[in-house]
Amino acid sequence: MFFKSSKINEFRLWGLLLTLIGMGLMILGTAGIILWGQSGKVFAAIFMVIGMISMLGSVGIYFWAGMLSTSAVILQCPECHRTTKMLGKTDRCMFCKTILTLDPALATDTGEDSTSDGDGDGRGTGQDDALPLKS
Ligand SMILES: [Zn+2]
Repeated sequence: MFFKSSKINEFRLWGLLLTLIGMGLMILGTAGIILWGQSGKVFAAIFMVIGMISMLGSVGIYFWAGMLSTSAVILQCPECHRTTKMLGKTDRCMFCKTILTLDPALATDTGEDSTSDGDGDGRGTGQDDALPLKS
């Protein structure tokens, strides 16, 4: 994780970056024709191809992120109490960036009683309870 954000947000960020890079390269390629005329066309073609690959890559990332988000766990963040999505066993909250885990063995702050959800019936709320993982 490079940007200290949740995995879904990071996928979106990479998708956006690749789209911008692709568009930038295609604009640069077109500028080559204006600057160097005939000889700039080869330059333009190369940049167009790289730009297209970058744009296709971003589409792939968006598609992949969409597929992943269908398997994401939706839960309420124990830190900021907002609804967030988690990918895998460990992910960051989309809003407060707290590292959350579904694995009790990894959790360092389990609250006063990790087996109870506080309503006293001991059955849980039926929701996956995420626990803050303090690094
Ligand atoms: Zn949060």
